[in-house]
Amino acid sequence: MAGTIEDKATADYVAQKFRDAGLDTEIVEYKVWINYPAEISVDLTAPAGVAMHGPTREHVDGDPDDNDPRVVMPFNGMSPSGDAEADVVYANYGTPEDFEKLDKLKVDVHGKIVLVRYGQNFRGVKVFVAQEHGVAGVIIYSDPADDGWRRGDKYPDGPWRPDTGVQRGSVGYMFEFPGDPTTPGVASVPSLPDSQRISPQKSAQIPTIPVTPLSYHDVWPVLQHLGGADSPREWQGALPFTYHVGPGPAKLKMHLKQDYQFRTLWDVIGRVRGSGLPDEWVVAGNHRDAWVYGAVDPNSGTASMLEAVHGVGELLKSGWKPKRTLVFASWDGEEEGLIGSTEWVEQHEADLANAAAYFNMDVAVSGTKFGASSVPSLKQFLRDVTKVVPSPKGGTLYEAWQKAAQPDAASAQSPAEAIGDTRRLPAAQVKGDVPVGDLGSGSDYTAFLQHLGVPSSDVSSSGPYGVYHSVFDNFAWFKKFGDPDFVYEQQMARVFGLEAVRMSDADVLPYDYEEYGKEIVAYLDAAQKRAKDKFGDHALDFNVVNAAAHHFESAGVKILAKERNPPTDATRMNHALRDAERALLVPQGLPHRPWFRHVIYAPGEYTGYAAVVIPGVNEALDKGDSERARQQLAVLAAALERAAKTLEGYR
Ligand SMILES: [Zn+2]
Repeated sequence: MAGTIEDKATADYVAQKFRDAGLDTEIVEYKVWINYPAEISVDLTAPAGVAMHGPTREHVDGDPDDNDPRVVMPFNGMSPSGDAEADVVYANYGTPEDFEKLDKLKVDVHGKIVLVRYGQNFRGVKVFVAQEHGVAGVIIYSDPADDGWRRGDKYPDGPWRPDTGVQRGSVGYMFEFPGDPTTPGVASVPSLPDSQRISPQKSAQIPTIPVTPLSYHDVWPVLQHLGGADSPREWQGALPFTYHVGPGPAKLKMHLKQDYQFRTLWDVIGRVRGSGLPDEWVVAGNHRDAWVYGAVDPNSGTASMLEAVHGVGELLKSGWKPKRTLVFASWDGEEEGLIGSTEWVEQHEADLANAAAYFNMDVAVSGTKFGASSVPSLKQFLRDVTKVVPSPKGGTLYEAWQKAAQPDAASAQSPAEAIGDTRRLPAAQVKGDVPVGDLGSGSDYTAFLQHLGVPSSDVSSSGPYGVYHSVFDNFAWFKKFGDPDFVYEQQMARVFGLEAVRMSDADVLPYDYEEYGKEIVAYLDAAQKRAKDKFGDHALDFNVVNAAAHHFESAGVKILAKERNPPTDATRMNHALRDAERALLVPQGLPHRPWFRHVIYAPGEYTGYAAVVIPGVNEALDKGDSERARQQLAVLAAALERAAKTLEGYR
């Protein structure tokens, strides 16, 4: 866990591996505001004669590691301390629609403790919506319908969540800004004076109501003793009784005392200086901090990254040098709020103005199904990388990926989506090729792409994974269910290493702005339809922005043709390609969210991890604010014209 002595020990270990491979390595410290749990209890105080005292210690017979006294008790990062005692209301997944439904059922959530289940959206969004509705406290639990016995056998017989398994996780409002909650836009270097920090009590990232997670073992008697109306049928989970919405008679008493302090984080940064273009960085990173053991999240990624670094070390020994500077990063504090990556990006804003790409890995392996998400300009690059990587299933990874992406296979809800870890959405098929998703938030690419406009991607191999953020995400689980022979680990090491090496050595930056243009045209078509539904046929004029999108697309088509037939000196072409993504940033940021400066991608305020595309426009439409939508269409049109002219600047 970030900031602990075990975290420092793993930083030293990773730094040694980087040095062994010949990387110029440093451990970079930041001082950031995060919480550990001090006292956490949730007790059932009514009806009389029914008892529940949680959180129960996570345990199954047969697990070798769940009894270590250092295992942190279940809690939510960024929850404030607080006490609440109130009748309970069940609010399904805690989406805005779920709260509307309660309103229609005449269930008042004001001052109540709201019980919601994990899944469908980022946990911080559940809390944000609850807070807007005047809720006194939030309990988030894992229902067996979402990642427990309804999905399959539970651990240790199968990969799904056992009765006492709890999902920890941050409830920080990362869609406001990620990183240290006291330093938006500023790096939390140890020498930063307190006067340049905002007070935690004023930070828009920290919820104002207490929140804590429980297992379905613990919430069972709570749900069982809710009265009121039957819940809507789609709200029914997999516990063996009918779920009612309440309020009461079940009443809970929450007591949360969080130990908030400025704690030290340790990013490990290893560099290989570029031989030709040392000021152009290619960054590849993965976080290292976990909630408990984190065999899958994030250490399946760290193991793959270390093997990729080992491979780069062998290349260096053979005399190879990258053309651009290669930077490998082991981020700290991702789980609390993408902190290590965000602070480093904020510190290196000037250096990263020339960066060619950021490649992320987080959960590298939880199963056998490959998936990727990226900015559209890198989608074809990713497909090309997978064409030279062997699949453990036989053939190339590209072929295995295509096979798994057939419509019938793709329609099933992925386990990641079921538990709310929806980092990637299924993408529209462009060019009829294998789909690559869009980047929302939820991992360390956020600051690179959405704050600085560095083209980014995220890759993983996923499968049935019900132990996310619990004590059971450990080596025993991984050996039995994740990747028993470590062959998918090898696959991901090859993908990650090839991304970095190919990009660092590319003569012409392998960006495809034709695909980017096509996707933006499609986003605008969808937004225009929504605008017509909301405001009628002619309320909003899309002509200017549509023309700008087509201009960007045709500039993309033209430069792609030139990329296929490049001049001997591609410097000017590369600058145009590199600066086009930055042209999609706006200095003032999104409405109410100045840290987020990218006009095409942002995490949604009401979806969390999942991407909102053309967020300025789409969130104005969500709010029914036609004036803001009009203004955001103009901002978007100007950005697209700027990006088109950047591409056309190369002739
Ligand atoms: Zn992670």
